[in-house]
Amino acid sequence: MSTHHALAFDIGGSNIRGAVVDSSGVLVSRLNEPTGAGPADTLMKMASRLISETDRGVEGIGVAVAGIIDPSAGTILRSPNIPTLAGMAPAALLQERFGLRAEIANDANAAALGEKWLGSGRNFSNFVLLTLGTGIGCGVVMHDMLLPVAAEAGHMSIANDGPTCGCGNIGCLEQFASASAIIGRAMAEIEKGAPSLLRELHQGNFYKMTAENVYAAALEGDSLARTVLRDAGRALGVGMANLVNIFSPEAIIVTGGLTGAWKIYGEAASAEAARRSLPELFAKTQIIVSPVFDDAGLYGAAQLVFQTCAPKESIS
Ligand SMILES: [Zn+2]
Repeated sequence: MSTHHALAFDIGGSNIRGAVVDSSGVLVSRLNEPTGAGPADTLMKMASRLISETDRGVEGIGVAVAGIIDPSAGTILRSPNIPTLAGMAPAALLQERFGLRAEIANDANAAALGEKWLGSGRNFSNFVLLTLGTGIGCGVVMHDMLLPVAAEAGHMSIANDGPTCGCGNIGCLEQFASASAIIGRAMAEIEKGAPSLLRELHQGNFYKMTAENVYAAALEGDSLARTVLRDAGRALGVGMANLVNIFSPEAIIVTGGLTGAWKIYGEAASAEAARRSLPELFAKTQIIVSPVFDDAGLYGAAQLVFQTCAPKESIS
């Protein structure tokens, strides 16, 4: 089997990662640049450099991006963390500039493809990936293929009320179960006067608190921290139950920073998901904590190329 090469990008709020990846999953070379104010220019420069530095033929370009994408036009409809990306079609720009076929996907969708190729998804044909961090991302793999749907599980509506989400709505899962939600709730309770170890953090400047701080306090028995983590976990469990009932996946794979708090947050999530899912479906769903696979989005972007440009090779 001959080896193919793809140029892959993962455009995030802070950094753009770029790499040449081969079809056996080896990262041949890589670059990392701050996203900055002109992400399109940065992307073009990185692509130019990676292509000129590689002596192997690159067959296509895959782009993963934190945002909502119009799959037919390849346009970024909205990117909450990188507003300058709205309206941009990076794959089309790259395709035009370098004459290589280019594909684009949402970063969590791409991460699901990366997990399927080289991570915890390898053992499953049908799974849902949840990325649990500042926000909540999702990708769905069915019959070994990434479903070409938005899968914005972070904006799954799970409550009649609640804080306003970055998307402008209320009731979104992300506003109850993400790291930002955990930190926001803990701060609000402390402001209201709740006693907590978290009050003493960062020389009393508890506004610098992280989700790790909340977890550490919870492990020390802090009642506020435990309540906040359990409630966030319960909310995640509601979202998971919806995913189980809709997709009946073999697995829900969870990854991202919040999996570090799994012992409390995840136990609450699993218990709530068990309580709320259709039992026949839940019995067939494994909940898997994936070791943090930091480059899943980058590998997934490469896989977008291999799946579409070299389908025959992937079968042989
Ligand atoms: Zn939302």
